[in-house]
Amino acid sequence: MTNSPVSEHAPKIGDTRLLIDGERVDSADGATFAVYNPATGEEIAQVAEGKSEDIDRAVKAARRAFESGPWRDMKPKDRAAAIWRLGELLVENKEELGGLETLDNGKPFLQARDGDVPTAAGLFHYMSGWATKLEGTTIPISFPGQFHTFTRREAVGVVGLIVPWNFPLTISAWKVAPALAAGNTVVLKPSEVTPLTALRLGDLALEAGIPPGVLNVVPGFGADAGAALTAHPDVDKVSFTGSTATGRAIMQAATGNIKKLTLELGGKSPDIIMGDANLEAAIAGAADGIFYNQGEACAAGSRIYAHRSVYDEVVAGISAAANGINVGDGFDASSFIGPLVSKEHHAKVRSYVDLGREEGTVAAGGEYATDGGYFVNPTVFTDVTDQSRVVREEIFGPVVSIMPFDDTDEVIRRANDTRYGLSAGVWTESISTAHRMAEALRAGTVWVNCYGVFDAAMPFGGYKESGWGREMGGIVLNDYTETKTVCIKIGD
Ligand code: NDP
Repeated sequence: MTNSPVSEHAPKIGDTRLLIDGERVDSADGATFAVYNPATGEEIAQVAEGKSEDIDRAVKAARRAFESGPWRDMKPKDRAAAIWRLGELLVENKEELGGLETLDNGKPFLQARDGDVPTAAGLFHYMSGWATKLEGTTIPISFPGQFHTFTRREAVGVVGLIVPWNFPLTISAWKVAPALAAGNTVVLKPSEVTPLTALRLGDLALEAGIPPGVLNVVPGFGADAGAALTAHPDVDKVSFTGSTATGRAIMQAATGNIKKLTLELGGKSPDIIMGDANLEAAIAGAADGIFYNQGEACAAGSRIYAHRSVYDEVVAGISAAANGINVGDGFDASSFIGPLVSKEHHAKVRSYVDLGREEGTVAAGGEYATDGGYFVNPTVFTDVTDQSRVVREEIFGPVVSIMPFDDTDEVIRRANDTRYGLSAGVWTESISTAHRMAEALRAGTVWVNCYGVFDAAMPFGGYKESGWGREMGGIVLNDYTETKTVCIKIGD
């Protein structure tokens, strides 16, 4: 583990005040909070701390922009052009945005600049196309000649978007892009751990021609700003990504005015390597599926099931992959894994590493930094059971358990034996096994002979306690629109 100095890619941190109604403003009581570089533990910025009064100001601005601003009534092609332009601006600013993400979250700069930022831009490009395609249908009801009945797709109104710290810009784009394409106005609350790229996204939206008040950005703490946004009576919808526990709190807070909700929550995803798999591809793909982004990914393949005939080879291969990963400052080009995002999260993952030592055997890794940056080495556990806590609970770090299985029905049952249902992976050379397992696995996404493939056009979301609704794809527009039925009498 290294702790090398910040490189020339680290950008200057600009204005860290709230963005409300197109203006950068201090929080109402002037409060700020510190943001830290997780590679060093050092403070890098003070950011304005939004609280309920600031959320209220932002919601009022978004309401004004929705009811009387130009956004909702803008020609769809003009709205599309502005959203497309925002995608272009992300690409043009990828060096700065990638650098901010690394400073704030810790992830490797090359992954942030060449992965997170283009992915976020792709969301705006893809969703801009939907602004001109939100069509209703004509409906042949049971009274021929008497009624003309059709549906219209309309914006929901003011939407509150609450995003986590693991992909701060990308997950903001997952939500902001479809919300804007459908003509909604937005209050975006980034995690207080990683607020910097969301603030820049707000600036770039203005530069792209998205009118003031349409995208407001209010960093603050979940229990304060987040809770105020979810309980606000003038917010029509909330879309949240984060832990299942917070998702539950948000459901309760949203009951006041029966807000519409989209929840993308936790996961403990199985990645299954069948006896006939292409082992080279499976081992590399499964290792990437857990260790990418420091394992701080809701879809991480954190339970690997390997057929007993290939189990030893899989354990050896994934352990070798874990041992070969460079862990270090995200600005060091040789780092594949950066630090975990925060001191608190580091403490949580460390406690699971310690627990895994008691519950099983360490096949690789197991070390972590105890001072300076928040590093944890990629860790592989074996000799754990389906009841081990490291196998059942979301760790959200570079920590994986590998377990053997004997037959297909057994592994399907064990893979589905979880309260989560976000994603799953299957590695096999048999097309029938691939289809059979894709059907049987209770998860929102099943990857076959690949893992962690995301695209703006692919719906993503969870079964069971992994959430409600979907992100991305055309289907997400259902969550950001109301369907209005119009029935007109045209004859007797
Ligand atoms: P949270 O679910 O608490 O945070 C996610 C977002 O929700 C943040 O913006 C947070 O704000 C906000 N928030 C927190 N409490 C409330 C509330 N009462 N009302 C409204 N918004 C709120 O995740 P943590 O950061 O605490 O991480 C804990 C665990 O959650 C992780 O270890 C991981 O297991 C899981 N997680 C899952 C993610 C996913 O992609 N599904 C992403 C992140 C975490 P703030 O940060 O300012 O408190």
